[in-house]
Amino acid sequence: MLMTSQTRQIAVIGSSGSIGQNALDVIINSHGTLNAILLSVHKSTDILAQQILQIAHTINQPKNKQNNTITTTITTTKTDTHHLTLPRWVVVTDLLADRSPLERLPFEIISAVKIVYGYEALCELVREPEIDIVLSAVSGCVGLNITWSALDAGKCVALANKESLVSGGSLITELALKKGGKLIPVDSEHSAILQALQTWRMNHYPTQLINHTDNLTHHKEPPITTSSAICPDTNCIDQKKDRGNYCNENNYGLSARGAVNKIILTASGGPFRQLSQEELNNVTVADALRHPTWRMGSKITIDSATLMNKAFEIIEARWFFDLCSDEIGVLIHPQSIIHSMVEFIDGSTIAQLSQPDMRIPISLALHYPDRFELRTVSVNWQEKVLLEFYPPDLERFPAIKLGFKIADTAGTTGVVVNASNETAVAAFLNGKLPFHDIVTVCNAVLENHNFEQSPTLSRLFELDNWARKETEKWISH
Ligand code: NDP
Ligand code: MG
Repeated sequence: MLMTSQTRQIAVIGSSGSIGQNALDVIINSHGTLNAILLSVHKSTDILAQQILQIAHTINQPKNKQNNTITTTITTTKTDTHHLTLPRWVVVTDLLADRSPLERLPFEIISAVKIVYGYEALCELVREPEIDIVLSAVSGCVGLNITWSALDAGKCVALANKESLVSGGSLITELALKKGGKLIPVDSEHSAILQALQTWRMNHYPTQLINHTDNLTHHKEPPITTSSAICPDTNCIDQKKDRGNYCNENNYGLSARGAVNKIILTASGGPFRQLSQEELNNVTVADALRHPTWRMGSKITIDSATLMNKAFEIIEARWFFDLCSDEIGVLIHPQSIIHSMVEFIDGSTIAQLSQPDMRIPISLALHYPDRFELRTVSVNWQEKVLLEFYPPDLERFPAIKLGFKIADTAGTTGVVVNASNETAVAAFLNGKLPFHDIVTVCNAVLENHNFEQSPTLSRLFELDNWARKETEKWISH
């Protein structure tokens, strides 16, 4: 049952993408608890125009069935609740995108929606005071600047763009702490961990991380107490020392630490789970795009086939929950019903189960800490439900080793591997790189880079650029 009393104004960044479209579905069906105040795409102006029309149609349906006019009243205050309104801003970041689908929109819409072009404008707009939650759901490292800008303005960020934490985990989490910005996971695994921790002891969850709802709900949570972590690995102890900032009353990380043994990320294993090394050498783009359980954008689908997606999720978990790498485990679970688990020190494990449907973690992130009714299909427990688990094969899927390595060393390793992987995946999709070389080139570029422990944001972008060029060189040789 919904507990919030006001409509949350959501900026959907990447609305034309797989996460963005699911988010819009959640918002449109939220009965006014959520409203899309900003939509952004890169170049898919046709999808953006359709989304605006869809919102206008939804507004129109219950209110003005008789005269069939479009309601274009823009909600300007948070007290004007329970109304879906047209977005106040729509942003197209690619300056060369075809503008005609937006220009063809009816006059009532064009006069009510501000159409803005350019990436810099988007980074500025996410700071607008009327925005409650920025859903950061673009693909790629471009998301880092958007997430950064929103957190810098003290916003709550529902984070789907895992590249933000993979590339800039240390800077992003420090910024959130400094500016009072919040991060809520959208990725299903991290959402599952959040849900498992919620059940452990509500008031022990890292409220600074997620308590953006202060002004939206009536929840009052007590201050966090931090229990000390026992971290047997020396490297981890060092890391923990370095992360001393988090271990005080502003603890950004896992305040359940003392009670948690480890978190276990599940992975479907992708379409190639059962292929031999030799067979992996011959897979095609079409094979790799055929994910067995999830429907997602093409980049993340390829990452799921190499298991680089799981490597990124290890790094994401390390930053979301302030964990050492030996507190994170990975299990192959082909059915994608258990989305991840938390193993506690008393032998209990709490898991979150559902059909694979991204609307569930998206809705939770946008309504957090409440839940809202969704038209999803639950797991049918009357039927035989098979839940299998296997350890990942690190030889056939070396990306997992790479993920743990980056979670351990942090610094500039994440940005380099992310950029290299983005370039390699694009080359694979264009038929210029065999599948098995995607992780090979990432490892080679990583080895070749000058490691820095504490890079600045601009240094991260320089290295992102460098790693892309290095990867292209490697591919063309
Ligand atoms: P898609 O490829 O489906 O969508 C990407 C979105 O980002 C589109 O709206 C696209 O606009 C926009 N975009 C692309 N390039 C740029 C750019 N240079 N500047 C601004 N916007 C840009 O991706 P997904 O929705 O699958 O994934 C989005 C993020 O969420 C990724 O980081 C992914 O790892 C993460 N994620 C996705 C999951 C999923 O189920 N899909 C699950 C968990 C995490 P346009 O259409 O105009 O190009
Ligand atoms: Mg995931």
